[in-house]
Amino acid sequence: MGLLNSIEKTMGKEAKLALVAMENKAEATKEKKPVTNKIKIGHVHMSGCTGCLVSLADNNLGLIKILDDYADLVYCLTLADVRHIPEMDVALVEGSVCLQDHESVEDIKETRKKSKIVVALGSCACYGNITRFSRGGQHNQPQHESYLPIGDLIDVDVYIPGCPPSPELIRNVAVMAYLLLEGNEEQKELAGKYLKPLMDLAKRGTSGCFCDLMYDVINQGLCMGCGTCAASCPVHAITLEFGKPQGERDLCIKCGSCYGACPRSFFNLDVIPEFENINEIIANALKEGESDD
Ligand code: SF4
Ligand code: SF4
Repeated sequence: MGLLNSIEKTMGKEAKLALVAMENKAEATKEKKPVTNKIKIGHVHMSGCTGCLVSLADNNLGLIKILDDYADLVYCLTLADVRHIPEMDVALVEGSVCLQDHESVEDIKETRKKSKIVVALGSCACYGNITRFSRGGQHNQPQHESYLPIGDLIDVDVYIPGCPPSPELIRNVAVMAYLLLEGNEEQKELAGKYLKPLMDLAKRGTSGCFCDLMYDVINQGLCMGCGTCAASCPVHAITLEFGKPQGERDLCIKCGSCYGACPRSFFNLDVIPEFENINEIIANALKEGESDD
């Protein structure tokens, strides 16, 4: 049983219809490899710790299954021997951009030009994260002192916040990107719904501050006191008091990281119930796919 067949079994009727054709397509591509309708995914490494790539790799055999049947990894300095940025369907960009490194500035612009969908992978790409505090003077590249989240330089389509984001979230976005680009109209609609909250985060960019979290989450009674916002704040402007976050506004540098990291900030009742079990469904489907081979 393939990935899409398993999703179909668990999701609503509309999704079921949309995924039948997808299953057929997956089966068809399995029979006549090398397939031509795999999407092209690239990993573009800016300034970061490579933790996001490790998280991607933590999908283990599930990742191999995706690369086998749904996506080709056409660019990845760590894993693929390709020197120049190629045309890509989906670019996963990890890390922020160092302004003093002209090659990085050119690379991020070229990535935008050559990619249908640009994904900011992880909090450094989305919000700058720890790299915002570089002041230069480090041994090997002392002149490197200013780092920007990629959304400050190019248009970004999807944000995947997290330091690093979970392997499941990265994998799910890859699967949904496949549906969005290669599926029929219903499949595209399904994938669009799943990706919408992450696309909304990308539209918001780095404009968020602690006040947004307060208005949209805490004051709405949506906060569950998990502390993720406090952990994500690069200037320690958030503390948990009696299980609820308190912001020190004088410290806040308005980076938006807490808003993006909060699991309730892009809470969308129209979408979330439909995708409640998506992690489990995709994981099981990929496992079943493995045993079929
Ligand atoms: S509270 Fe912290 S994480 Fe949130 S926007 Fe301000 S500086 Fe960024
Ligand atoms: S991350 Fe969101 S849900 Fe968790 S404590 Fe902060 S505001 Fe509340």
